[in-house]
Amino acid sequence: MTDANLSPAAIGLMPIPGHIDPVPVPRTNLVDGVTPRADGRIDVMGLPKKRITELFEIAGLDAKAAKLRAKQVYHWLYHRGVTEFEAMTDIAKTMRPWLSERFVIGRPEIVEAQHSVDGTRKWLLRTADGHDFEMVFIPDADRGTLCVSSQVGCTLNCKFCHTGTMRLVRNLTVGEIVGQVMLARDALGEWPKSATDTRLATMAGLDEDEDEGNYSSDGRLLTNIVMMGMGEPLYNFDNVKDALKLVMDGEGLALSRRRITLSTSGVVPQMARCGEEIGVNLAVSLHAVTKDVRDEIVPINRKYGIEELLQACADYPGASNARRITFEYVMLKDKNDSDADARELVRLLQQYRLPAKVNLIPFNPWPGTPYECSTPERIRAFSNIVFEGGISAPVRTPRGRDIDAACGQLKTAAEKKSRAQIDREALERIYAEKEAELG
Ligand code: SAH
Ligand code: SF4
Repeated sequence: MTDANLSPAAIGLMPIPGHIDPVPVPRTNLVDGVTPRADGRIDVMGLPKKRITELFEIAGLDAKAAKLRAKQVYHWLYHRGVTEFEAMTDIAKTMRPWLSERFVIGRPEIVEAQHSVDGTRKWLLRTADGHDFEMVFIPDADRGTLCVSSQVGCTLNCKFCHTGTMRLVRNLTVGEIVGQVMLARDALGEWPKSATDTRLATMAGLDEDEDEGNYSSDGRLLTNIVMMGMGEPLYNFDNVKDALKLVMDGEGLALSRRRITLSTSGVVPQMARCGEEIGVNLAVSLHAVTKDVRDEIVPINRKYGIEELLQACADYPGASNARRITFEYVMLKDKNDSDADARELVRLLQQYRLPAKVNLIPFNPWPGTPYECSTPERIRAFSNIVFEGGISAPVRTPRGRDIDAACGQLKTAAEKKSRAQIDREALERIYAEKEAELG
C-alpha cells in the first residue's frame, strides 16, 4: 500500500485476530471528533445538517444564524454538488470568506480514471491520508449503476476475491463513501443544471458531452448504487449508514432507497439493523450450499453458518416478493457448480420461503487465483435448474474485465504499481496529450 506503516492498530483500529474478524471494525469517522485538516480547517463533507449547525455555532454564529447557514450549505453541498463556498450564491458575499477560512468541502482525490471498451469506468481514488481505493460505474441500456467501496481492503478472505487478498487498511469515512457518489455525479455532469455543471465536469477531467444518455425519469445516468466495491459494508455499519442517509435524503442526493443495494458476505448480527435502520435492498454472497465448500470459499461461514444466514434473510425487514433478496453465486469450476448444488440451492431457498432471486456471477480471474470459471454450458445448466425451481437466476454479464473493474477484481493499483510509477505514468500521459495537441 502507499503507506505501509499505517497498520490498523497504529491508526486506532482493533487488531483483527486470525482470518475472521468477529467484531465490526469500530468507527474511524470525523463526525464525532471532527478532525481538522493540517491548516486547521474542518472538512464538512459527510457531515449531517445537525452537525454542520453545531460546528457553525462553535465557530461563533448564534443559534438562528447557524441553523439557516447549515441549511443553505447542506443544500449546496449534497444537492447541488458545489465544492467552493464562493459558489453558494444565496449566502451573503461577506459570509462566504468567513466560511472558507474555517471550513473546506473535500472530495476523494482522483488518481486515475479508466474507461473499458464496454463503457464501464473505474476510478482509482485516494483518501487525504494517502490510501487508495476504487469505484466503478457500469452503464446499461436502462440504468447506470455505481459500485461503491466501504473499506480500503477487507478483513474477510473469500478465496475467490482479489480484494480479499489485501489486508484491511481502514474503514472509509462517511465523507469518503458519500464522496464517491459525489465524484460520480461530478464526472457525469449530473448536478442540477447550473453553471457549476460545466466547471465540475471540467474539474473531473471529462468532456461535457461524454456519456450522454437518458436513463431515468429525471434524465440521470447514475440511477442505482450498489455497495459492492471493496470491503464488507456491514463491518463499517455506522459510516455506511450515515453515508447512505445523505444519499437517500430528498434534500441531499435524493436517490430512492429502492435503487440502493447493499451486498454482504453474511455478517448475520448486522443484517436486521441494515433493514431497520437503512432500509435498502439486500444482496447476500452465498456462493455455496454446503458447509464444507462455503467454509472454504467464504470463511465467515465458519462463524455464521448457512442456516443462520438464511434465517436472517427470512427475517430481513422489508423483504417481500416485490423487494426480493438477491443471492449472489460465483460460478467456480468443479467447486460449487454441479447439478446437485443447483438443486440444493433451490431446496434451501424454498425451505426458508425466501423471496429470492439468484444472480449467477461468472468467476472473474485475477493473477494467482487457484480457481477457474465454470464453462458457459455448466452455468446455463445450473441456471436452468434454478429457473425450473421457480426462482429467477440470470447470469450476470461480466463488465469492465479489461480494466480489472469486474466483481472481485478490485485491488488498488497502488499495490501493483508504486506511487512513483503512477506519477510517472500520469506525467507521460500529460506529455503525450500535449504533443498530440501540438501536432
Ligand atoms: N463484501 C461484500 C461486497 C463486495 S464483493 C460481499 O462480499 O458481498 C461484491 C460481489 O462480488 C460479492 O458477491 C463477491 O462475492 C463477488 N466477487 C468477489 N470476487 C469475485 C470474483 N473474482 N469473480 C466474481 N465475483 C466475485
Ligand atoms: Fe471481502 Fe466481499 Fe471480497 Fe469477501 S467477497 S473478501 S467480503 S470484498
